[in-house]
Amino acid sequence: MTLLDGKQTAAKIREEVALRVRALQRLGRTVGLAVVLVGDDPASAIYVRNKARACEEVGIRSVVYTRPAQAMEGEIAALLDALAADSSVDGILLQLPLPAGLNADALLAHIPPEKDVDAFGAYHLGALVRGERSMVACTPLGVMELLHRYQIGIAGRHAVVVGRSVIVGKPMALLLLNADATVTVCHSKTRDLRAECLRADIIVSAVGHAGLIGADMVKEGAVVIDVGMNRVNGKLCGDVDFAAVAPKCSYITPVPGGVGPMTVAMLLQNVCSCAEGNLTRK
Ligand code: NDP
Repeated sequence: MTLLDGKQTAAKIREEVALRVRALQRLGRTVGLAVVLVGDDPASAIYVRNKARACEEVGIRSVVYTRPAQAMEGEIAALLDALAADSSVDGILLQLPLPAGLNADALLAHIPPEKDVDAFGAYHLGALVRGERSMVACTPLGVMELLHRYQIGIAGRHAVVVGRSVIVGKPMALLLLNADATVTVCHSKTRDLRAECLRADIIVSAVGHAGLIGADMVKEGAVVIDVGMNRVNGKLCGDVDFAAVAPKCSYITPVPGGVGPMTVAMLLQNVCSCAEGNLTRK
């Protein structure tokens, strides 16, 4: 069994991004990310802080715009419009989830595709469906990058994605499909999750349910990617019963230290790609 070391791989990607950022700086361009944080969700505040710190480390200028939970939707929309028009901003990130009463889809539509670093908007999702080159959501992109850097073959293999959210499960399934895997997508209404997973050469679990994937659900030699982030007795863990499943796998991601750091690295990469694309437009 080989551990897919997301921490180490992400560190390498961050170095690569830092070089690209420096190359843009030599052309007189500072790469900039704007993060919009609405409300006081403590987890979101931590994620935003981590993203801002990661930006700083690679030379990306990040500005966090905080607004209270009671902010009107029109006010947030106006802020996003202003950031869209600001040429010093290469990427815009609206931290989700939003407080109740705010319509995330309506607000995401105010982020133009060329600045949509999270790629949650319809333009990039549509491009993914069409199999076109585009911006891809950071978490599924991070999973693909991890598979790629460990030279894990995808074409012709049976991949089972557990979870069908717009930000992880669906783009994950499409990326694997575009890479020529045969893909099954499972969700809360799937009748026999165990039977579906047992057929998988590659399992990606993105549910948010600790211990969901047990050893009896994984075939010998499978690749297991754990996107889940759960807190059990204050400790971070994934969806996979790591201790039981790992001995059966050819490759497996740990939690923490697997997909999480890759997600942040992909955000930096997406911001940098936006800046490189914007360079030709300004
Ligand atoms: P969502 O809650 O939006 O989606 C969860 C999905 O899991 C849904 O499609 C749901 O099905 C499915 N599901 C729920 N219960 C079961 C079950 N018993 N069997 C099979 N499927 C089930 O979550 P997200 O996609 O946003 O996130 C998933 C997990 O990934 C979370 O733990 C989150 O914290 C983590 N995450 C980690 C990131 C990282 O960087 N490592 C980044 C983003 C998320 P249905 O559609 O039918 O409701």
